[in-house]
Amino acid sequence: SIPVIAIDGPSASGKGTVAQLVAQRLGYHYLDSGALYRIVALAGKQASIAWNDEAALAAMAAGLKIRFENGEILLDGQIVSEAVRSEDMSRGASEVAVHPGVRRALLDLQHDFRQAPGLVADGRDMGSVVFPDAQAKVFLTASAAVRAERRYKQLIGKGNHANLAQILADIESRDARDMQRSAAPLRQCEDAILLDTSELTIDQAVETVLQHASK
Ligand code: C5P
Repeated sequence: SIPVIAIDGPSASGKGTVAQLVAQRLGYHYLDSGALYRIVALAGKQASIAWNDEAALAAMAAGLKIRFENGEILLDGQIVSEAVRSEDMSRGASEVAVHPGVRRALLDLQHDFRQAPGLVADGRDMGSVVFPDAQAKVFLTASAAVRAERRYKQLIGKGNHANLAQILADIESRDARDMQRSAAPLRQCEDAILLDTSELTIDQAVETVLQHASK
């Protein structure tokens, strides 16, 4: 079967960056599953559907026209790459992601990304639910303090205002919601390796994943 490398972990752990570099190195496709939850939050907001309205969100999610092209995210042909990255949609994504109906509605869409020669899938439940038969599973994490610091530097680097304490509080509340929800809670799979990047460079993390995947 077509190989999948599942990379799961908490917010701002750097797994998006690592997963994309691993995909590049292997010539594999890349799935940013978090973007799908962000798009559901955005499309819900645009359609005036509340983030706690599971039935309406699930019905909408199943019919979303989503494309990933040239590094951009398109919803109904409109570029939404920036819009889905806002703090509002970070919170919205984690709120819509608690609904089992929404998660089910996004399954087929995620499975469609499994195409030759292979896929690197980034998310919270890639190894546990979406691709349980993945050839390699990695739980990529870093301490909350390190993750907050990285996000802070990223925002400052782009010329934004940022408050480190606020970022840390947001990360901790998103972690809590991801770990405590009953549908596909964030956790390390038994067959996943733990990769704590607190003390690692991006290159070191990429090499570790490549090594694990080649076994
Ligand atoms: O990875 P990212 O931060 O973009 O994901 C946004 C939110 O979507 C997460 O906080 C999480 O609640 C949810 N998510 C999920 N399952 C995934 C990917 C993301 O529940 N596979």
